[in-house]
Amino acid sequence: MHFHVITLFPEAFDSYLKESIIGRAIKEKRIKVAFVNPRMYVAGKYKRVWPDGNVSRIVDDRPYGGGPGMIIRAEPVLKAVEAVMKKIVKRKNAKTKIVNFSPSGRKFTTSYAKTSAKKYTDMIFLCGRYEGIDARVARILKAEDISIGDYVLTGGELPAMVLTDCIARQIDGVLGKFDSLEEERVSSSEFYTRPEVLEYKGKKYKVPPVLLSGDPKKIDQWKQKGKES
Ligand code: SAH
Repeated sequence: MHFHVITLFPEAFDSYLKESIIGRAIKEKRIKVAFVNPRMYVAGKYKRVWPDGNVSRIVDDRPYGGGPGMIIRAEPVLKAVEAVMKKIVKRKNAKTKIVNFSPSGRKFTTSYAKTSAKKYTDMIFLCGRYEGIDARVARILKAEDISIGDYVLTGGELPAMVLTDCIARQIDGVLGKFDSLEEERVSSSEFYTRPEVLEYKGKKYKVPPVLLSGDPKKIDQWKQKGKES
C-alpha cells in the first residue's frame, strides 16, 4: 500500500512514522508514505519573489460568502494530486482511493480500514487546514469525505496518521505473527503484566485470579465478559 499525503505540513508526520510497528513496516517496504506539499504548486499572483530572493507562496484565500477562516485554494491541491496520479498510473493494476478529511464526513472504522487494505494499492489523503479546502476539489477528484470522530481538529494531518496507522495494521506482514493472532483472538480491554501484586502507596493491587489459573477456556470466558460489559 502506498499512502500519498497532500499536506501543507509534511514535517508533522516525521517522528510518528519512524516509531515501532509503522516504522518497521516502512523500512521493510510493506507500506510507503510519501508527501506532496500544495505550496510547491502555487503559481501566478499568489507567488511572490521578494528583492532579497525570498519567495512567498500563498495557498489560501478568503471565503466567498464571508466567514472568519481562510480556505485552501483548489488549484495547488489539484496540481499536487495530479503529480501523484502521474506516478501512480505508471504502475499497472494500481487501484486508487482519494480521501478528503472532514469532521462531517463518513466515520472511519476498523472495518473501513480492512476493506481499504484489500481493495486499494494507493490512497491519497487530502489534509485540510484553516477552514478547509475549496469544496470543488473533492467534487472534481471524486474524493470521499472521511471523519475520524465527532470533534474538530486544526488540520487533516492527525486524521491522515490515524488512517495510515490503522490501515497499515491490516496489511500482511505489518504486525508480527504474534500480534496478528492478537487481532483475531478473544481480546479484553483490561491487561496485566508483572508483578502479580502491585504495591502502590500502601495498597495492594492484584491481578484477577482467573488470569493466573492456566485454564484457557476460563480465561477466554473472562475476557469475553469484559468485552460485553
Ligand atoms: N470549519 C470546518 C472545520 C475545519 S478543521 C468544518 O466545520 O468543517 C480543518 C481541517 O481539519 C478540515 O478541513 C479537515 O481536513 C481536518 N479535520 C478536522 N477535524 C477532523 C475530523 N474530526 N476528522 C477528519 N478531519 C478533520
